[in-house]
Amino acid sequence: MSSLTMRKGNVDMNKLDRLVQEVGAKRVPYISLEGNVNMAGGQPFSMANLTELHRYCRKNDIPIMLDATRIIENAWFIREREDGYAHKSVREILREICDLTDGCTMSAKKDALVNIGGFFACNDEELFRKAQNLVVVYEGLHTYGGLAGRDMEAMAQGIREAVTEEHQAARIGQVHYLGEKLDRAGIPIVRPIGSHAIFIDAKRFLPHVDQDEYPAQALAAELYLESGIRTMERGNVSAGRDPKTGKNRRPPLELVRLTIPRRVYTQAHMDVVAESVIDVHKRRDEIYGLTMVYEPEYLRFFQARFEPISLSPL
Ligand SMILES: *Cc1c(COP(=O)(O)O)cnc(C)c1O
Repeated sequence: MSSLTMRKGNVDMNKLDRLVQEVGAKRVPYISLEGNVNMAGGQPFSMANLTELHRYCRKNDIPIMLDATRIIENAWFIREREDGYAHKSVREILREICDLTDGCTMSAKKDALVNIGGFFACNDEELFRKAQNLVVVYEGLHTYGGLAGRDMEAMAQGIREAVTEEHQAARIGQVHYLGEKLDRAGIPIVRPIGSHAIFIDAKRFLPHVDQDEYPAQALAAELYLESGIRTMERGNVSAGRDPKTGKNRRPPLELVRLTIPRRVYTQAHMDVVAESVIDVHKRRDEIYGLTMVYEPEYLRFFQARFEPISLSPL
């Protein structure tokens, strides 16, 4: 595949340089780099981009901290898509990513295949000592960080299995199976398909619903009513309000995320999901927007409540 398909998760080096020039490298404590970035449809960064970022950050003395939640899936994409990596194992590529970065936070609930847990790692002794000290206050001794021994053992095994090519091929293959099926049926989805989810473009799915009537939230609710499938709004509700004007932000992307847990569903489940989305799409003209009846102060997308907009009689 071409390097074009690796572009969407990349760091925009020009934009980064402009920001660093503007605020000064000394005022940038670190760069947070997310693999298969959620808000970009689960798209990977390329090794070429990371190498360039690493060179830039070394020169400017800025550490790179990985949000490693989906970094194994990112390594798989590098193996599949980037020139010169097809003969390397996911394990080797992962190691190369780690060598080019300075530390990470890892939520083990995703790539590492376990129910709970995570870790912080870094290559700076002084930073490590500080973190080691703080973790005792907030979580427990640094050797377990608030986790049960059983959970740490599960995580260790999860990582061993997650770095196998067989697992990644099945996992990402399942997500792509669903995506291709929806695409063939004319459902507007974000392409290229990422690793962990399919993103439906709610603006194109429900073009008659104004963004202030939350089309992605309305579509998520409709899918739940149709078949009990729980999806996630990533649009106007998630974007929140502009603190100055108090108005909804109306972001360019208005998406519904169908996130697929690892090792939970079969291909038959994917068929049910696809059929349900297709059925809702067929009657999309009958779907109206929502009004928000409860809006929490922070991160409203987690707890907000909605009601269907009732149509006033003519
Ligand atoms: C899920 C997720 C987190 C948060 O992890 P928790 O273990 O739920 O706290 C952080 N970053 C990314 C990219 C995630 O997907």
